[in-house]
Amino acid sequence: MSDDQFQQSTAFLKKAVPLMMKYKVPTTPTNYALWYTYVADTDPQLNADVDDTLTHHGTCSPLQSDMLYQKHVADKHSQDMSALKQSLESMMTEMSHSMSDTLQDTDAFQSVLDRTFEQLARVEDEGLSIDETIAVVRSVVKDSQSLTQSTRYFKHQLSDAQQEISQLKQTLAEMTEQATHDGLTGLLNRRAFDRELTAYIDSNLTPPFCLAMIDLDHFKKLNDTYGHVIGDTVLKQVAKRLSDYCRDGIQAFRYGGEEFALLIPQKRLNGAKRIAETIRTAIDRMIIKDRRRGNTLDHITVSIGVAEYDNETGESASDLIHRADKHLYSAKKLGRNRVMPIN
Ligand code: GH3
Ligand code: MG
Ligand code: MG
Repeated sequence: MSDDQFQQSTAFLKKAVPLMMKYKVPTTPTNYALWYTYVADTDPQLNADVDDTLTHHGTCSPLQSDMLYQKHVADKHSQDMSALKQSLESMMTEMSHSMSDTLQDTDAFQSVLDRTFEQLARVEDEGLSIDETIAVVRSVVKDSQSLTQSTRYFKHQLSDAQQEISQLKQTLAEMTEQATHDGLTGLLNRRAFDRELTAYIDSNLTPPFCLAMIDLDHFKKLNDTYGHVIGDTVLKQVAKRLSDYCRDGIQAFRYGGEEFALLIPQKRLNGAKRIAETIRTAIDRMIIKDRRRGNTLDHITVSIGVAEYDNETGESASDLIHRADKHLYSAKKLGRNRVMPIN
């Protein structure tokens, strides 16, 4: 049988099934054979009889089908056998292609395929009669229907699982974010600071590095004068300025309250102080609008204490923080809005 004929017989089988459904014809082996021949249009007398029956009764009852089958098909079955067999094979191939994408790894798919090919082999090996072959077709159609159902179910489960996974991923991302970031300013938090500083000291790979401790000046007064909401806005704006300088490995943290910390890698004390001075100036130049009261806030200032990690003594994290804090304290004492130490 040529490829063309092969495709033709598949097309016939595919046309026959919907017609049988349309006219509510029971899916018996004889009916499959009858309707296959009808759509193949190889027997004009059969087609005329079927059309006649449909015109007068609107359907083809089991009794009428039987009679038509006996009259037109029973004795001619041999000529249609191979065509039927071919269409079966082609349906199977098509089915396996369309199903394998979604069911590739499932046992269900494998067992259905095994079963259908076994049945197909029987047609071949045992030389089944047309009735028996039709029975095989029927069971294949049934299998393919249940396969379609299980594929749908499988797809459903898959999309449920995917949804669940993406929700879990999002929750996880949020939890990770909360664990390392500050809710108000979005900067890295104190916990992240402790972890990073320890990593710096332990790695021993990146000396020199510096720590800058930054504290807002007279922030209590600002809160008292303008309220906590404005206070929060100022904290966010300061954090934004700090973020602007987070390049070349510099990291900014909200150390707590109105205190921030900067870790500055690959810089000696003087280089780090220059960066701190730039930041101090940028904050001093900030202008914040208080829309509710219609006035503006300016001259928001910070004091900064900078310390370079003492690599020779291999000082601890808390010693480094303490030294930076001491410089911050002297900046406050000298009148605020400055970077310390001077030299
Ligand atoms: P100094 O120049 O000596 O640092 O004075 P100060 O007023 O900034 O320092 P003090 O430690 O006396 O006050 C810090 C204030 O910061 C008190 C507290 O209400 C305020 N503060 C801390 N955290 C927050 C916050 O998250 N939001 C707001 N709005 N205020 C905060
Ligand atoms: Mg403080
Ligand atoms: Mg302060």
